[in-house]
Amino acid sequence: MIIDCHGHYTTTPPPVGEWRDAQTASVAADPFHVGEKGVIAVSDDAIRESLEGAQLKFQRERGTDLTIFSPRASWMGHHVGNEHTSRFWTEHQNELVRRVCDLYPDNFAPVCQLPQSPGVAIDSSVRELERCVEEMGFIGCNVNPDPSGGHWNGPPLWDRYWWPLWEKMQELDVPGMIHVSTSCNEHFFTTGSHYLGADTTAYVQALTSGFMNDFPGLRWVIPHGGGAVPYHWGRFKGMAQDKGWDFDGLLDHIWFDTCVYHQPGIDLLVDVVPNDNILFASEMVGAVRGIDPDTGNHYDDTKRYVEGAALSAEDRSSIYDANIRRVYPRLGGTAA
Ligand SMILES: [Zn+2]
Repeated sequence: MIIDCHGHYTTTPPPVGEWRDAQTASVAADPFHVGEKGVIAVSDDAIRESLEGAQLKFQRERGTDLTIFSPRASWMGHHVGNEHTSRFWTEHQNELVRRVCDLYPDNFAPVCQLPQSPGVAIDSSVRELERCVEEMGFIGCNVNPDPSGGHWNGPPLWDRYWWPLWEKMQELDVPGMIHVSTSCNEHFFTTGSHYLGADTTAYVQALTSGFMNDFPGLRWVIPHGGGAVPYHWGRFKGMAQDKGWDFDGLLDHIWFDTCVYHQPGIDLLVDVVPNDNILFASEMVGAVRGIDPDTGNHYDDTKRYVEGAALSAEDRSSIYDANIRRVYPRLGGTAA
């Protein structure tokens, strides 16, 4: 079985974006606008249509079985509006992902976004995580380490601000993918410097603080191949040696996905990072949708690179399946 642990609903039917545009306009006119959740009218057929020519088509073509699926990351937009803005939008997005998984239970398993909002306590995210996991069968969450959208002016991930969320994730036995959203800081291009910088930043915040030792069951997935981390493994290992940080112990808590879009990148990842800490993922129909003229294949067809890497059959199978099930134990009941 081949599980892709990183997919987003990037192809939502038009009424979803229209609802969000109207909400965004309302808070732009009045920052204290509360509004209401209301309804986003999307039929089951519209959902099917949005997936059949995209994620489902690629699953069939590439030979993957199940995608761990969450709302579109760049649309989380936690910096937009106030806590009510984020709550209503997040509830809609998560409920939509639940519907996708109900329509295609063999193809998708649900991961939620959280209603984070700058300057707002993490409690509302804890409540939404509970709702999604306990009432709607979600198996994980995406955690935005920078809800400001590129300004990084909130508390770092080791700060006690976050601890109620880490405690709840541990209690519910669900992992979090540490995943930023749109950058509204023009220094950082969203899917380039902001995403990869955030991946690296999250890892380093965990390494330098050692806070994860206080949460034995806390698990993070660092997406996009871990940003710069595998490439600079020696730097982080050497820094840890000098400073007394627990470099090896962190690997009880952190996994890296395979959203790296060329063969040499995947070769380096599987060479450097212990096999147990690598999870298959493609983030298909995401940041990079084109075809590499040098190979004739889609850049995000990462299964080709994993197939092409120097891995034993057993190690490859662990990346595709066993490692992911260890990180997402609630997948057990939902997998095909
Ligand atoms: Zn993503």
